[in-house]
Amino acid sequence: MKKTAGTDRSLTARWHPETRAVRAGTWRSEHGETSEALFLTSGFTYDDAETVAARFAGEADGMVYARMQNPTTAMLEERIAALEGAEACRVQATGMAAMSAALLSHLSAGDHLVAGRAAFGSCRWIVDNLLPRYGIETSIVDARDNAAWEAAIRPNTKMFFFETPANPTMDIVDLRHVCSLARAHGIVTLVDNAFATAALQRPLEHGADIVAYSATKLMDGQGRVLAGALCASEQWITETLLPFQRNTGPILAPFNAWVVLKGLETLDLRARRQSDNALAVARFIESRGVRVLHPGLPSHPQHALAMSQMDAAGPIFAFFLDGGREQAWALLNALELIDISNNIGDAKSLMCHPATTTHHNMGPAGRAEAGVEDGMLRLNVGLEHPDDLIADLDQAFGRAGL
Ligand SMILES: *Cc1c(COP(=O)(O)O)cnc(C)c1O
Repeated sequence: MKKTAGTDRSLTARWHPETRAVRAGTWRSEHGETSEALFLTSGFTYDDAETVAARFAGEADGMVYARMQNPTTAMLEERIAALEGAEACRVQATGMAAMSAALLSHLSAGDHLVAGRAAFGSCRWIVDNLLPRYGIETSIVDARDNAAWEAAIRPNTKMFFFETPANPTMDIVDLRHVCSLARAHGIVTLVDNAFATAALQRPLEHGADIVAYSATKLMDGQGRVLAGALCASEQWITETLLPFQRNTGPILAPFNAWVVLKGLETLDLRARRQSDNALAVARFIESRGVRVLHPGLPSHPQHALAMSQMDAAGPIFAFFLDGGREQAWALLNALELIDISNNIGDAKSLMCHPATTTHHNMGPAGRAEAGVEDGMLRLNVGLEHPDDLIADLDQAFGRAGL
């Protein structure tokens, strides 16, 4: 294997993000392939006993077993780290494997976690149900409220965990404020950046400690594989995450890593185009007198904050129909081009009704607290021409009595 310029941090640090997304992390075999190679191997062989002993002792670089690392996953990790501006990255089998690895490797019985109220359903399940079973205390705050974060801090608070923008209410967390508050109290911040990705928002630049991903979403971007990633300091990755990850095994398969690696080459283009398309579609929905929550629109109560920490608002937003669940379902069922799907970040436009799908498990009280109303719909805007999406919505609005 031959390293390319993309593995030299002093070079990639000077490149623009678009260049890093295409070039960072690439190694080449003796064949000199242009596209990154897919290494479908679980094990490795060694020239002699001394080499393998040195690798196991941590005295020499090199692969030992794919539960630790594989050349294809290693290329993906270097590329994500370069995009994020992180010292290190490790990838996991799914977004939820990444979230649970970060939480369970960092927290111990007797510790306290503060988490944002609006979150991906499974993230809330871990905070509300799993962590307390292991003696980890958890508190939920309205993540938009800076004072609420401060008020929730206890002497044993070890971690803040939130999404921004959050799923599906598009709550925005003041990254600079909340991360510096955490720093001042020796608390580590874990930011789920799946909605924006490094193409649109880089939480480490605002003082976050760990950035967590479902790479299933915008990073793959074409609805093909599940994947997760954690970006942080070399020290946190090596000392906190790796002992957990290597021994519990939530590792990403090389094939899935390869798919995401290729997805990243077009991440910047897709994220920006999908953001533009989403804004056009959101403006149309708003023009129909429908309440829209889109961080890129001046009508979003945190629009200024969102635009101060994001390059663009991303492909996902929510809107609210007065006719509740019935009207929301009528609109979904009238769509001809946009698909009914709970996935996001895809190049295809997808719409879902969070109250009866992604946030169903929370129950009515949980949904009320998280701001997930019965008339709420979440739309992921893809790469289709926005006029075609608007035409589909226009006919569906008519058929749903809007
Ligand atoms: C999808 C998603 C997850 C979970 O990721 P998986 O890859 O489905 O396990 C976590 N957080 C957010 C914000 C998500 O959108």
